[in-house]
Amino acid sequence: MNNAPASELGFVPAVGEVRLSPLQRELLGRAHELGVGRLAPRAAHWDETATFPAANYEDLRAAGFLKLCIPEAEGGLGADFATYCMVAAELGRYCGATALTYNMHICSTLWTGLLAESIDMDAATRAEHERRRALHFEQVVSHGRLFAQPFSEGTAAAAGRAPFGTTATRAGAGWRINGRKIWASLAGAADFYGVLCTEVRGEGQPLDVRDTLYLAVPATAPGLAVEGEWNPMGMRGTVSRNLIFSDVWVADDAQLMPRGIYYQAALTWPAMFFTLAPTYLGIGQAAYDFTVQYLRGEVPGEPPVRRRQYPTKQIAVAQMRITLETMRSIFWRVIHEARARPSKDERMRLYAAHYTVMEGANDLCRLALRTCGGQSMMKHLPLERLYRDSRCGSLMLPWTAELVTERLGREALYEPGEKDT
Ligand SMILES: Cc1cc2nc3c(=O)[nH]c(=O)nc-3n(C[C@H](O)[C@H](O)[C@H](O)COP(=O)(O)OP(=O)(O)OC[C@H]3O[C@@H](n4cnc5c(N)ncnc54)[C@H](O)[C@@H]3O)c2cc1C
Repeated sequence: MNNAPASELGFVPAVGEVRLSPLQRELLGRAHELGVGRLAPRAAHWDETATFPAANYEDLRAAGFLKLCIPEAEGGLGADFATYCMVAAELGRYCGATALTYNMHICSTLWTGLLAESIDMDAATRAEHERRRALHFEQVVSHGRLFAQPFSEGTAAAAGRAPFGTTATRAGAGWRINGRKIWASLAGAADFYGVLCTEVRGEGQPLDVRDTLYLAVPATAPGLAVEGEWNPMGMRGTVSRNLIFSDVWVADDAQLMPRGIYYQAALTWPAMFFTLAPTYLGIGQAAYDFTVQYLRGEVPGEPPVRRRQYPTKQIAVAQMRITLETMRSIFWRVIHEARARPSKDERMRLYAAHYTVMEGANDLCRLALRTCGGQSMMKHLPLERLYRDSRCGSLMLPWTAELVTERLGREALYEPGEKDT
């Protein structure tokens, strides 16, 4: 592969100056241009009004970014896992809510595409999956449709420790869905909701995680409603309201993955949950960018007061840079290691990377506010928004900061099947 240093881009991307393929250079260049020109100037508006960044999605659509991870053979841009992570980090640098909602959309193409390819299926199941996923890809490629990814329910299901309570019952040549999802980013904005639910095997039969279905529900489906208030601390542009499914019927072809394959993917492809992290690397980078600009007295519209001459400021920026470099390094490594059935060492590094990026983003914002000082937290500047947005990463299931540390500790001390008697 003809890899060249990122400095040829004319900017240092959020992932740092690294070697990139021609496609990665092109996509990162596009993401940066969109970020600086379109996303950054509008970010305060979505935050203030807690509204979905619809105008940003017009730009992402026009740039071809909705089909980023759809294979070229199916009309997409053919970006792989690592490329997506780099692009998402660059977008997150300029608007966290856009990058996070973009993740929900991209996952619906990444899981059905790249992930599903490395999960075992018999030939007939794979052929059926490929026929169906072509229908979903077509919605994105030809019609620019947007997908959401509602799985949270306020139970142990989103943590992967119980079956989803939202159910799908066989009804004619399709499924009847009932249940409630909370925290559905893109609520009211998506064209399709990629719903994770559990197949009802029969009257009185217990729900089983192995029967998880992943169904694309059109926003216009009768029985689907968006409800609830939306006034959160951070990531306000994600508009993650609740979804109610009351006897919503979808045809068999709504299956984004064959029955049971989501469960297999969650077991064997852990990096599928790392896709939330790039947004937060971008936010951390933005806090660092702002701090350097502010201490140099170069923030547009602000008095050109320099504060860089104080050793305290220099030390704080050094601490920030160390945190940022730590985040970038482990991020870079794990996005290239991502694959089905990683080794134990790789999986533990992935947990550590997720924790490092999610908590690191908030650390960077905390240090940025402390060192830039009182004037820097005014609402007309981005730092207080970055601070609020950065706090949200560690709350996201299934890999909250608490749950990844729990996994890391347990897996460090126990081999599979080991018990204390
Ligand atoms: C900005 C934002 C956008 C989001 N967008 C989406 C989206 O698009 N789709 C979606 O499905 N969800 C989304 N979520 C929801 C997210 O993934 C979590 O489901 C949600 O934040 C969990 O909130 P909760 O209060 O229900 O957590 P709880 O389930 O009450 O958990 C609270 C904490 O307890 C711990 N915990 C939880 N379960 C267990 C367990 N079984 N064992 C031990 N500890 C546990 C975890 O550390 C967790 O942080 C979003 C969240 C945020 C903040």
